[in-house]
Amino acid sequence: GDVAFFQRLMPGRVVTGEEEVKPFNVDWLKSVRGCSQLVLKPQTTAEVSEVLRYCHERNLAVNPQGGNTGLVGGSVPVFDEIILSTALMDRIISFDKVSGILVCQAGCVLERLNEYLEEQGFIMPLDLGAKGSCHIGGNVATNAGGLRLLRYGSLRGTVLGLEVVLADGSALDCLGSLRKDNTGYDLKQLFIGSEGTLGVITAVSILCPQKPKAVNLAFLGCQSFAKVLETFTTCRAMLGEILSAYEFMDEKCMQLVESHLKLSNPVTDSPFYVLIETSGSNSTHDEEKLNNFLEQAMASGLVTDGTVATDDKKIKVLWSLRERITEALTHDGYVYKYDLSLPVGKLYDLVTDMRARLGHSAKNVVGYGHLGDGNLHLNITAESYSHSLLDAIEPFVYEWTASCSGSISAEHGLGFKKKQFIQYSKPHEAVVLMQRLKAMLDPRGILNPYKTLPWAP
Ligand SMILES: Cc1cc2nc3c(=O)[nH]c(=O)nc-3n(C[C@H](O)[C@H](O)[C@H](O)COP(=O)(O)OP(=O)(O)OC[C@H]3O[C@@H](n4cnc5c(N)ncnc54)[C@H](O)[C@@H]3O)c2cc1C
Repeated sequence: GDVAFFQRLMPGRVVTGEEEVKPFNVDWLKSVRGCSQLVLKPQTTAEVSEVLRYCHERNLAVNPQGGNTGLVGGSVPVFDEIILSTALMDRIISFDKVSGILVCQAGCVLERLNEYLEEQGFIMPLDLGAKGSCHIGGNVATNAGGLRLLRYGSLRGTVLGLEVVLADGSALDCLGSLRKDNTGYDLKQLFIGSEGTLGVITAVSILCPQKPKAVNLAFLGCQSFAKVLETFTTCRAMLGEILSAYEFMDEKCMQLVESHLKLSNPVTDSPFYVLIETSGSNSTHDEEKLNNFLEQAMASGLVTDGTVATDDKKIKVLWSLRERITEALTHDGYVYKYDLSLPVGKLYDLVTDMRARLGHSAKNVVGYGHLGDGNLHLNITAESYSHSLLDAIEPFVYEWTASCSGSISAEHGLGFKKKQFIQYSKPHEAVVLMQRLKAMLDPRGILNPYKTLPWAP
């Protein structure tokens, strides 16, 4: 009966075959697997409304899914939830060249949007390694950070409006395109980062910056983490408004991208590497600033070797060293992933402590991330999953993070894998209020159940 209803609603866009459904059941990391038997591919908000109205009435659980690149097991079912995929909701609704405001459906792939905007002299305000697959709706649902946050800020600032279908099927039109609007509570913020648990995002209005005329990239080697930090303060002071990214990776990361992906290290082997991007409007001016900074960094011994790219091709090659670390890690064995916000000065201490703690029981313990945002990606690999190794890592990693008032999830969200650790970063009263909001917006608990929040008794 249920399948027949959906087939009538969206003929040809209901997937039921075991083989066809399989990829929707497994996450990008291949670390969690659901057993859904039904994938729905709506094209319009009205169809999403019809689906949720029906599921609400019939008490059927629904798992919203975008590009399925999420890293915390939030994008795939735990049991047999119906998968609601935004894959066919990929229409650009409007773009205003004066304001830079883009309005589009939630299933638009981030990279496609960026290409569309580049033709008009603009770019998306966010960029991440998964850009070729992730959807803008998924980005908003996870409040994705990524590589441009340092410059353009978080989605909480750049998303101007959202259209959301609530659990009972009613559509909430908050798809405004205003920079300033203080009329009542800012409801869209509730859905940004809600990981599909409060509503299905169907359309997004987002403020996009002009495409910078001049982009330069420097890839540098540093001899210690203290020097990585000092290089950051120096470059912030000397590059000012043109600094658009400051990323770091340790030597283990470099070894992994070299051995698993056959990328080559463009500089002399060093314990740490930093990637500095500048984006501005005047190439002569930007290059002069960057060169002055590099001269000073070299002369004072902050940096021991480096290379600079100004052309698109070399820029892409250098960026891939950093962007493809996540991919390289998956070739190294089973990966225990942690995405932490920490006071920037202490960021690498956790990697060092973890390495000492685990000794030979781990294959590799690596650290990299968005240093400019105080965001560490700590990854531990082993030949295969081991419960005793997990016990050695957790809750130690969360206690360590809580002891310096950090966040146990800087940008990936809590999903299925981290939801039971929320108390390390949020007080009890905050979790209870979140549970009350969830109960109000989704009283039957049909939207992405078993995710983000611990179970409310
Ligand atoms: C190689 C790689 C690099 C990455 N780099 C970064 C990074 O730099 N920064 C970062 O923040 N993340 C990063 N990620 C994590 C991930 O890509 C992002 O979280 C991304 O934003 C998820 O988008 P998606 O469309 O794939 O969503 P999915 O994985 O499909 O879903 C993620 C969550 O959002 C929910 N969801 C999806 N679409 C909707 C919708 N329309 N309405 C409501 N809920 C929805 C899902 O239910 C799920 O809980 C990376 C992942 C990979 C694989």
